[in-house]
Amino acid sequence: MSAPRTSKWYIEYSSPHLGHMHGITEILVSVQTKFQKMDIVRSGAFGTCLILDDKMQASSVDEFIYHETLVHPVMLTHPAPKSVLVIGGGEGATLREVLRHRSVEKAVMVDIDDQVIEQCKKHLPSWHQGAFDDKRSKVISTDARKYLEETDEIFDVIITDLSEPVEEGPAYLLYTREFYQMAMGRLSANGTLSLQAGTAAIPYLLNFSAVYQTLNSVFPVVAPYQTFIPSFGLPWGFAIASKNQDPRQFSEAFVDQKIQERISSPLSFYDGTTHKGLFGVPKHVRRELEASKIVIEDNHPLFTYH
Ligand code: SAM
Repeated sequence: MSAPRTSKWYIEYSSPHLGHMHGITEILVSVQTKFQKMDIVRSGAFGTCLILDDKMQASSVDEFIYHETLVHPVMLTHPAPKSVLVIGGGEGATLREVLRHRSVEKAVMVDIDDQVIEQCKKHLPSWHQGAFDDKRSKVISTDARKYLEETDEIFDVIITDLSEPVEEGPAYLLYTREFYQMAMGRLSANGTLSLQAGTAAIPYLLNFSAVYQTLNSVFPVVAPYQTFIPSFGLPWGFAIASKNQDPRQFSEAFVDQKIQERISSPLSFYDGTTHKGLFGVPKHVRRELEASKIVIEDNHPLFTYH
């Protein structure tokens, strides 16, 4: 006899017509912070999940896919990153992956919401794995745009691990041309930047293609890439932007050798073969990215449905 179905469901809507349902076995946290709605729940399929403004951020079962994809390609695209800025990244898992790189001397994480950081520290210890307490880490709780406006620090790598640009959410002004110009101004000579850019699923490529074109309006090199994130139920878009470095030129053997030389512990998702797959963006997605005319600006923001 099959097991009875879960009776509690969380539905993440990508549009009025598409949602992904997760059977929930326990609600650990459900609060409205100063900046966003935060839920930490246990899903029957994906373990503990962080959900902000009704959008799945990551799950304990597959967060390694998302975080290795966001962090390692951009870190290897820089010849020898010493200083890294993580923008957002409340769970601490992006910081964890950055700190695996032997060359890193300083990792600054700027997240607007200290309540998210506190609850993640408490409920998701296997995600941060002590990254917040590493002597190379500095955690700052403020709006990352304000931080970038005011700091005179220069970074080798900037990783923007932000929640999606939902209307009235805290992140939408960190997806604009003006914001990327500010980030470019804080990068060193071989500086590289990575970000998550929303779904790469065919009906909903607007955000990915607009972020790609917005980066193109600022950076000399922009390399889009994608992978499937099981807990999102969708292929997900990412991009690396830089002044002069292009990860699409790396062979499988080069990536494997750099991982060996530069990363201190074994990875679960990313290697040379995975790298080729990530940057092998399918033809129909490339066509949409190139065809888009949208550049996101402070006065013309783009919002994700929620
Ligand atoms: N994995 C994620 C996803 O799929 O969207 C993103 C992860 S992380 C939890 C997103 C973080 O961005 C949150 O902790 C949130 O507080 C932070 N954030 C949103 N807006 C921000 C801002 N203006 N400045 C700094 N951090 C911000």
